[in-house]
Amino acid sequence: MKHDAHIIGGGLAGSEAAWQLARAGFKVRLSEMRGSGTTTPAHETDGLAELVCSNSFRSDDDTRNAVGLMHHEMRRLDSLVMRAGEVARVPAGSAMAVDRDVFSAEVEKTLREHPNVEIVRERIDALPQSGPTIVATGPLTAEALAQSIVAATGQDRLAFFDAIAPIVHRDSIDMDICWIQSRWDKMTAASNEGGDYINCPMTKEQYLAFHQGLLDGEKTEFKEWEANTPYFDGCMPIEVMAARGVDTLRYGPMKPVGLDNPRDTTPEFPQGRWAYAVVQLRQDNKLGTLWNMVGFQTKLKHGAQVELFRTIPGLKNAEFARLGGLHRNTFLNSPLVLDRQLRLKGAGHIRFAGQVTGCEGYVESSAVGIMAALMTAAELAGREWTPPPPTTAMGALLAHITGDADAETFQPMNVNFGLFPPLHDVGKKVRKEAYTDRAKADFEEWLVETAGVPA
Ligand SMILES: Cc1cc2nc3c(=O)[nH]c(=O)nc-3n(C[C@H](O)[C@H](O)[C@H](O)COP(=O)(O)OP(=O)(O)OC[C@H]3O[C@@H](n4cnc5c(N)ncnc54)[C@H](O)[C@@H]3O)c2cc1C
Repeated sequence: MKHDAHIIGGGLAGSEAAWQLARAGFKVRLSEMRGSGTTTPAHETDGLAELVCSNSFRSDDDTRNAVGLMHHEMRRLDSLVMRAGEVARVPAGSAMAVDRDVFSAEVEKTLREHPNVEIVRERIDALPQSGPTIVATGPLTAEALAQSIVAATGQDRLAFFDAIAPIVHRDSIDMDICWIQSRWDKMTAASNEGGDYINCPMTKEQYLAFHQGLLDGEKTEFKEWEANTPYFDGCMPIEVMAARGVDTLRYGPMKPVGLDNPRDTTPEFPQGRWAYAVVQLRQDNKLGTLWNMVGFQTKLKHGAQVELFRTIPGLKNAEFARLGGLHRNTFLNSPLVLDRQLRLKGAGHIRFAGQVTGCEGYVESSAVGIMAALMTAAELAGREWTPPPPTTAMGALLAHITGDADAETFQPMNVNFGLFPPLHDVGKKVRKEAYTDRAKADFEEWLVETAGVPA
């Protein structure tokens, strides 16, 4: 079959993209290497859209939860992942969980039966030189193709491991305890709050207890095939650093020097004294709603992270947009290498979709697959494409990965309300409902006016 678009990778994003293009009337070649005698270290079957770990699409609550809202928007676009998810659904309270085999089989059957889709079991080893292409090869992109991507983007633009420091919602940080300042008051031009960092001060007693907590906290083991995860200088897990000596952190990410705590002044130090140790947070998105804990990438289990990090002064009520982690994960520095329409700068026929773009999770990867397909469909039809507004789950995630995230610290991101333009004038108790109400209204407007997708 002569195709209009070539999709590489038949995972969540690639399958969803194939469906969206096919239903818009375009012929698609979907290349999936599993089934051709090769696989990834995590997949266990040859089925399309295999869920490699949990069987959950997380919260299905579209009134108070950003992932549930993403489900809603995907359903409005007749998402294949959501359709097949309904067929395969198993009881899971307010979450959406599926029977993974039924789910994968349903996705594959739907695509196989579509006259516009040709599924080819083949591994692609180089980026195609021409023709509309969507690369959706995921966090475990095969080596030869990854090297071809590196050749096109530059050595330091494709990461093979993530090193995620926890990210905190700004409005959950207690600014009566913390303060904003750059070390030695060295500010960047971008600074708009009188400094680049939020600082959380610790006494000696607090620091020693925290240090012990890092050593004692339950850790996640690396999977066998991740065991050779390299600890680059800048991304060593905080607990590994802590194990090197009681003061290692005080000379590293928790260094207190040059930071004058204005809540601890004396006549001798009217500007404020230095704390015994300091945890620093740096702005993570343009909106200033999300702040990452600098140097706090960690393999501590999620429960242990929340418990321990909430003992940090000023973070007692911290709400985490995402928790720390360290995994094998192939992903682009998308804010630098992709344009706003997920196209590779300098090779506009290539789009990326799914987790390789630096989104994180089954749902997010599928949603980016939908958007890549809609963009391609518009291009093939000679139409302009307008992205969903940044007030919607899809629009907020797209804006983040294609430019609003800080490229220097870019790490994979889940959808969360911290990516949305803030609603400061709405009370905290009803803010989540307000975000979803606004998103749904804006999404409907966008859908009617610009999506160009058959309803
Ligand atoms: C071990 C592990 C556990 C995870 N657990 C979860 C979880 O519990 N929940 C969650 O939400 N997310 C989880 N994730 C993240 C998850 O992988 C993604 O969320 C999601 O699967 C990404 O979708 P994708 O379509 O981008 O990639 P994938 O679903 O991985 O699909 C990529 C496809 O591309 C194929 N491929 C790769 N290279 C080539 C090539 N050169 N030519 C042709 N085909 C190729 C692969 O075989 C694969 O089928 C996990 C990831 C890993 C690695």
